[in-house]
Amino acid sequence: MTKLIVMAGTEDRDLSKLAEYEAVGGYASLPKARALAPAAVIDELKASELRGRGGAFFPTGLKWSFVPKPDQNPNPHYLVINADESEPGSFKDNEILSRVPHRFIEGCLITAHAVEAKHVYIYIRGEYLEPYEILVAALEELKARPELLGGVTIVVHRGAGAYICGEETALLDSLEGKRGQPRTKPPFPAVAGLYASPTVVNNVETIATVPAILELGSAEYLKLGVENSRGTRLVSVSGHVENGANFEIEPGIQLRELIYGEQYGGGIPNGRTLKAVIPGGSSTVILTADEIDVGYDFDSLKTLNTAMGSAGVIALDDRVCMVQLGIRVSEFYEHESCGKCTPCREGTRWMTTILRKLEAGEASEGELDLLLSVCDRINGKCLCPLGDTAAMAVASYVDKFRAEFVAHLDGGCPHHDSPLEGVLAPIAQHAHHLGSAARLVHA
Ligand code: SF4
Repeated sequence: MTKLIVMAGTEDRDLSKLAEYEAVGGYASLPKARALAPAAVIDELKASELRGRGGAFFPTGLKWSFVPKPDQNPNPHYLVINADESEPGSFKDNEILSRVPHRFIEGCLITAHAVEAKHVYIYIRGEYLEPYEILVAALEELKARPELLGGVTIVVHRGAGAYICGEETALLDSLEGKRGQPRTKPPFPAVAGLYASPTVVNNVETIATVPAILELGSAEYLKLGVENSRGTRLVSVSGHVENGANFEIEPGIQLRELIYGEQYGGGIPNGRTLKAVIPGGSSTVILTADEIDVGYDFDSLKTLNTAMGSAGVIALDDRVCMVQLGIRVSEFYEHESCGKCTPCREGTRWMTTILRKLEAGEASEGELDLLLSVCDRINGKCLCPLGDTAAMAVASYVDKFRAEFVAHLDGGCPHHDSPLEGVLAPIAQHAHHLGSAARLVHA
């Protein structure tokens, strides 16, 4: 059984309330951290090898260490939390904010101490109304406990539903009241972020992990997971599985286990067979059913040229049409492209156009090659990862299921009932689709 880190204590308690959280030892890591110099907290995080849980997997302690000291840069320092969870297939941060808001806030306060920030902004996805209300209620409770806040102000800002605002610099522009578009880097946010001041941007799950690292100590934390993927991760398992839910796991678990294990996805419903798996949210390279005997961790998935991404595992059964899947993914990224750079803005539109022609049986074989050429002309030529990942994802469908794409050239789609309803839907629909099932299952 996985040792719970982020969701510890939720097995039998409602930890959204301050008293309940304190009853299980909550807010005990905060004074421990404040007793240390900021640099010592950063060293502890570095030693823990915690990596960002938003998708980029960048080492957290290292990121914090890039922030200049106040005597090097006297501008206010900011901590900004990316709670914009908008990757189709990922709904873990929703659960963290809803069920352990105080653990997340404690992580914010420890991080603020480490990077010497007095202002914390939490940028939360606009559609996440329930987590927003729970988070605000938790912050209200803290107003009566100024010793916990320690002079730090925490502001919750609701986004307006743009996927690109999950990219850290677009998020900062949006927070400043501008149109959310990625900035050119450098400078990086650590040096010139919010209002051109030193800023750390971290994901919800990353920050919610911090109190446990202070509590356990990095040496204990390092015992969890596998090399390059330490600790635990919350994985959102969805699509064609019996149990669509979040699971806190130790990286290194087999992907097959996540889909078929009774404690996890529980297998494919209605006697269907598995056709493919998207392992880390819609922007990751797809795996065939033959490729799931692989560890669910950074290094193992890298051997298959894919990634954990935002840890959204989407199972697709044998009825799914890969061309229709490509259309759904391509339309999503075309719609969400901010338009700042040409390969992404124009290329995603071309991808969708060609895929629609294929689906209608009106494309030539040359256009199938053109689709791959368009993907190639997007990949590596964009300002931010949106364009690259859209192209890589769609190209992987053609690469691994080419025969199915070729079959469409004669207008013969064998998957007229392709059941994509509720699969890879934008997150608001995910939460709606999964309903009460979108809750952590203790494995
Ligand atoms: Fe905008 Fe797409 Fe360019 Fe990113 S890759 S900056 S989303 S146009």
